[in-house]
Amino acid sequence: MDDRAGEPATPDSAPPAERLSAGDPAQGPLAAGKVTLVMGGEPVAFELTVPAGPVAVEEVLPIFQGLSSLFAERAATRAALEGRTVSCRAGCGACCRQLVPIAAAEARALARVVRSLPEPRQTVVRERFAAAVEAVADAGLFDQLTDLSERRFEAGHDYFRLGIACPFLEDEACSIHPDRPLSCREYLVASPAENCRSPTAEGIDKLTLEGDPSLAVLKADLRDGWLPLVHALVFDETAPPSPLDRTGPEILADVLGRL
Ligand code: SF4
Repeated sequence: MDDRAGEPATPDSAPPAERLSAGDPAQGPLAAGKVTLVMGGEPVAFELTVPAGPVAVEEVLPIFQGLSSLFAERAATRAALEGRTVSCRAGCGACCRQLVPIAAAEARALARVVRSLPEPRQTVVRERFAAAVEAVADAGLFDQLTDLSERRFEAGHDYFRLGIACPFLEDEACSIHPDRPLSCREYLVASPAENCRSPTAEGIDKLTLEGDPSLAVLKADLRDGWLPLVHALVFDETAPPSPLDRTGPEILADVLGRL
């Protein structure tokens, strides 16, 4: 694993490195290394651990989830310094009816989360996914949302009008918060929460992040393109197994190079 910005002498007062890890040593050897990313013009040191051998992108996903959350936290801190208050709170699930684009690796990871749910909750969540897929198909949106060649993000407006709650939404809060997709982590607004119930470009003050891990992962995992969150289970059940043609450090370098 390389150090993209060199290995500067670290003054005693430097903040501790952010530590992120992926992989299970019981499943194979891990590779650890140091990386310095420039975030908002400021060097931020990371100590990263990933599977050393060939793995699917989803096995490195915890690193990108951590990065995504860190970018969001930094954006929220900057907003607060500017006097803007993030209105996103548990109990407000307005944005959880929007189209959530996810990478194939995230679909695999979400399917794993669903498989881990105890019954009867797993069945309830699976039924919500099935109902959402059916609603999308009934609205004639299926092809637009899954056409990987055209990447019809604009179909998101049509999707939102369907009012489909995310299958993981419980009492207007995310029931899989630690495992939520990258896009969900990166979506923070400083506009009134009620504006998210009928979002317009003028009504939403979306925080700008210093990087875009969700897009970087989408591009690094582009062989399968993006898909809407509600299609995660269908994808997991019908798509060929994830390729194992890159090592953990290679996947990491690919995504970090696209931030
Ligand atoms: S995964 Fe969680 S945060 Fe993301 S849309 Fe679903 S309920 Fe909302």
